Amino acid sequence: MRDFSIARRRMVERQVISRGISDKRVIDAMLTVPRHKFVEEALEAQAYQDAPLPIGEKQTISQPYMVAVMSEALVLEGTETVLEVGTGSGYQAAVLALIADRVFSVERIPALARRARKVLDGCGFSKVNIRVADGTLGWRDMSPFDAIVVTAGAPEVPQDYLNQLAIGGRLVIPVGSRNDQILMRITRTGKQEYKEEKLLGCRFVPLIGNHGWQVEA
Ligand code: SAM
Repeated sequence: MRDFSIARRRMVERQVISRGISDKRVIDAMLTVPRHKFVEEALEAQAYQDAPLPIGEKQTISQPYMVAVMSEALVLEGTETVLEVGTGSGYQAAVLALIADRVFSVERIPALARRARKVLDGCGFSKVNIRVADGTLGWRDMSPFDAIVVTAGAPEVPQDYLNQLAIGGRLVIPVGSRNDQILMRITRTGKQEYKEEKLLGCRFVPLIGNHGWQVEA
């Protein structure tokens, strides 16, 4: 079995820390999670590269830097309940499991959810809860969430996410067209008050569902 620890350290130093990520808990989590286990075996050697990679079903595992930016933007201390929309490979969920208390992750494609479940269990992340459903509706039974992270691009912010956010909670979501989005952080500052911040430009696969894009292009 190949040892990827040097590749992982290099990824974190060159793609994460040198680009300004300073949250030590995010950095430690990315040094810990074996990213190569979350991609197909044939792509293992590319897992630590500075790029997203295909995971099947026309979906991707996000670029390491993007995982770091989104995780840091959630401002987690370890006590939080977090919702992730778009389980994909399960990699972001594993990072979240190390920096938050409870993680709920929704995926619309059953085959991806099954594979993510297997990999997460194999890596010791059984505490991540995965559900196959339309994540544009959030996960109402488990709300409120201290943080919600959406790892697919939305045409607009689904109202359910705003409703399911705890007061003080943070929603990190790419919003824009099918091809280009802006990563937004929305903080619920009061019962009806929200603060919006634009973080950076990004490019995600589409969020497909009731309150997302209607069909795959
Ligand atoms: N977080 C993932 C990871 O760490 O590998 C990357 C996710 S990938 C960029 C986006 C994922 O969002 C895909 O797996 C896609 O099937 C999923 N997705 C798209 N629309 C969705 C929806 N309405 N509900 C749940 N998942 C959705």
